[in-house]
Amino acid sequence: MKKVIALGVVLIFGFALLAGCGGEEKQAAAPQQPAKASTTFVTIGTGGITGVYYPTGGAIAKIVNQKKDQYHIRCTVESTGGSVFNVNAIMAGDLQFGVVQSDRQYQATKGLAEWADKGPQADLRAVFSIHPESVTLVAAVDAGINAIQDLRGKRVNIGNPGSGQRQNAIDALEAVGIDYNTDMNAESIKAAEAPGLLQDGRIDAFFYTVGHPSGAIKEATAGARKVRFASITGIDALLEKFPYYAKSIIPATLYPGAEGGADVQTFGVKATFVTSAKVPENVVYAVTKEVFDNFDAFKSLHPAYAVLTKEGMLEGMSAPIHPGAMKYYKEAGMK
Ligand code: GLU
Repeated sequence: MKKVIALGVVLIFGFALLAGCGGEEKQAAAPQQPAKASTTFVTIGTGGITGVYYPTGGAIAKIVNQKKDQYHIRCTVESTGGSVFNVNAIMAGDLQFGVVQSDRQYQATKGLAEWADKGPQADLRAVFSIHPESVTLVAAVDAGINAIQDLRGKRVNIGNPGSGQRQNAIDALEAVGIDYNTDMNAESIKAAEAPGLLQDGRIDAFFYTVGHPSGAIKEATAGARKVRFASITGIDALLEKFPYYAKSIIPATLYPGAEGGADVQTFGVKATFVTSAKVPENVVYAVTKEVFDNFDAFKSLHPAYAVLTKEGMLEGMSAPIHPGAMKYYKEAGMK
């Protein structure tokens, strides 16, 4: 009975609040089949609401929900702590899909980093990849930070433990010889809270691995305290060591409030869309087909998708491709 009530709440929530784009209602384990309608409920794990993952989950849900009469799938979106949280929640069956950094997909698949103790996440499955993300270091001008090397002795948010960016920050700091435990005051706060803390003078800088433009970076660059993007260079050994890192540039023109104005050099990864081997083939097939068949409509839903190509969306995956996604790629002649 409780489950039926809970599903009713999800329905009302979905209709009333987001007109089919999904809400933040948490779902139970595997896709649910309520007694009356044969609707399958799936939840997409994203990130903070001012990032790009949250609107990305919304974009995918919107496109899939348009065909609810055909597929009987209802997608909802949940704001989460980010990539690492999403992988773990998908593996636990609490979420069916999630947006996850390509480096985190690789580490989870191979049993590295946060998964070193738990081992390879054998049920993790890739669906497609999405927009590029840059490791973005936003710093207060009055803190005298121009480059990552200037973070010594500063108060810096490296990210919450469930986030993707935390390990990127640690890797980059290590690469330039800064120990985040001893050489600076590291904070472990969610990215959505960092812009406010920077503007309030409670931190000097923060890391966020995110697509551009994003609401969080707009917020950070639009306040009274002047901020700039600090460069992350001198990390060639890091880029050589890890196959998932590549050089990237933050186009400063996207943020007129930021000081400097020139493009900033850093490195980055890709956002990817993942699921579990336990999610049924027909569900993953429908989601994949709708995103690719409506590629132009999908691409128009966020400016960070400007660079997307269908072929590019099959790059950057390291987990096995889910059979439902593969079925579509074969049908479409893409694999
Ligand atoms: N890359 C971040 C993470 O994995 C999330 C970025 C976003 O929400 O756009 O935690």
